[in-house]
Amino acid sequence: MTDSCLFCRIAAGTLPATIVAESELAVAFRDLHPQAPVHVLVIPRVHVDSLAAASDAALLGDAMALAAEVARREGVADSGYRVVTNVGRDGGQSVGHLHLHVLGGRPLGWPPG
Ligand code: AMP
Repeated sequence: MTDSCLFCRIAAGTLPATIVAESELAVAFRDLHPQAPVHVLVIPRVHVDSLAAASDAALLGDAMALAAEVARREGVADSGYRVVTNVGRDGGQSVGHLHLHVLGGRPLGWPPG
């Protein structure tokens, strides 16, 4: 946990967020600026900078499983959805705490813009 990290503060409950699901190792909450009808972020409870810094397979597995659970709860499991993690500058990462975007509820173009 770092006080300066937005998503650490959300995981710790000291910064408000709309939590939609939780697991032992991860928390899912609505994105503040949704890019699709369903746009939920899944983060590990512990601080990890990005996928590039992630070495704990159990943590990654838990986060992916929670992303699939979010899709079921949000009603997009059958229509389809996308799970994305941005890494670093060229990947478009703006928050330095590993997060999975769960996007759905409309057809998603490929490649993303
Ligand atoms: P990325 O650009 O992949 O790092 O994604 C960061 C995402 O975090 C963006 O989609 C933002 O809209 C979202 N975001 C930033 N601050 C918050 C916040 N306080 N609560 C919820 N979502 C946030």
